[in-house]
Parts: sequence; structure tokens; C-alpha cells
Amino acid sequence: MIQIKNAKELEGMRRANALSAAALKFGGEQIEAGMTTWELDKLICDFILKHGGKPNFKGLYGFPGAACISLNDTVIHGIPSHSEVIRPGDIISIDTGAKVDGFNGDNACTYACGKIDLEARRLLDVTKEALHLGIAQAVAGNRIGDIGHAVQTYCEAAGFSVVRDFVGHGTGKELHEDPEVPNYGTPGRGPRLVPGMTIAIEPMTCQYDYKIKTLADGWTVKTRDGGLAAHFEHSVAILKDRTEVMTRGWEDPDFTL
Ligand code: MG
Repeated sequence: MIQIKNAKELEGMRRANALSAAALKFGGEQIEAGMTTWELDKLICDFILKHGGKPNFKGLYGFPGAACISLNDTVIHGIPSHSEVIRPGDIISIDTGAKVDGFNGDNACTYACGKIDLEARRLLDVTKEALHLGIAQAVAGNRIGDIGHAVQTYCEAAGFSVVRDFVGHGTGKELHEDPEVPNYGTPGRGPRLVPGMTIAIEPMTCQYDYKIKTLADGWTVKTRDGGLAAHFEHSVAILKDRTEVMTRGWEDPDFTL
């Protein structure tokens, strides 16, 4: 069931998502060649705790980290690891969130470690732009399919593909609520967007084919063909007259809590 948030609940969502955005931005700034993904996760975890939040990914469905950290051909759900070292030229997707006063934030961004090749840069730029085109469709009166259609059309026109097996979602007191928000779809189809809905829009894109595989650890999702993958996510609130990007802070160089 889709939960419609009242004004007070939207305030709670804003606080949780502001901290989530600050934690993501902080994480991106900490990336350095030679560090392990475990070290990066620890920094993000400590940041969330220090600012009065709870890392809401930790323990959810048994996930061990405060952030999913996914390198190169890993699409999502990379487990922070002592043995995985970030190297120059890697792309690093960080997906993290904070729980504050019972409400959940959620956001993601793919960062670069040093200089990356042109095709990797283009994948990141296209995926981020697709996220914003999706957000532009996330307005009261539109339908969920309008979002996915905008994301899919743009990514495919650029020669990339969008993942089918994982999708965005409603957010609220639960990190994952209804409705599902696919990154593909047909305009005018799916649930109607109404004021008070809060949803996470999160294009997951692949350099080549969108088929994925989950590793034996039960979490790590990689592209099947070994191509690169990117993941950008904002949590937004549908309001009567506009759409509020509650996690906009990670994109804002001047943003602080
Ligand atoms: Mg999400």
C-alpha cells in the first residue's frame, strides 16, 4: 500500500534525507586510491552516527555495511570489504541512507577515483542526467511509468541499458515501501503520483547489456558481460505544486548540514 505522508511526516523525511545526502557527499569526498571499501564504509557509518542518525542499511535484510559500495562492473549491493582496494580509474557507486526519528533517507551516486576513461565518464554523466529527467516526470498527476520511460529512453538513446531486475521504491518509515519505481516503462501506466508520496528514483545503468548476476555472497550484483555499471539516486517528495528533491545536498558543493 502506498503511504501518503502528512506535513509532519514530510518534515521527518526531510531531516532523514538531508543527513543521508550529507553522508553520501562526505563519502564521495573521502575516496582515495589505496583505501579499502571497508575503510570507506566505516567513515560513512561514523559520519551518520556522529550526526545523530542510524545507518539504516546496516542489518537490513542482513546487509553488513552502512553503505553499499560497488566498484566498476558491480551494479549495486557491493559489500564493504577489507580486501577490496580502490584504485585510480575505478568508478565507485556509494548507496547509503540514514534513519532519523523513525524516517528513512536513501540516495546514491557513482564517483570516480582520479582520471577515468571517456566511456566511463559518459556513463556517469548520462545516468545522472537520466535521474534528473526521471525526477522531472515525478510530478503530481503523472504516473510511475512516466518516470521509467524518461530514464529508459534517454539511457538507451545514449547507447547504454537500464537494469530490469532492481527498481526504485517508495520510502518512509520503512526504507522500501510501495510503489516500485522501475527505470523502464510506458508513459501513462502504473500508479498515479499524488501529493504526499515520497519515492526513491534510482537509475541503475550498464555500459552494455542489462543482464546481471548475483554472486555467491548473496548480495553483490554484477553485470553479466563485465561491462561497467552506474547508479544515481535521489529521494523526492511529490508536493501539490512542485517536486522536492530531499537529497539534493549530495549534488550541491556548498551543502552542509
Ligand atoms: Mg533506494
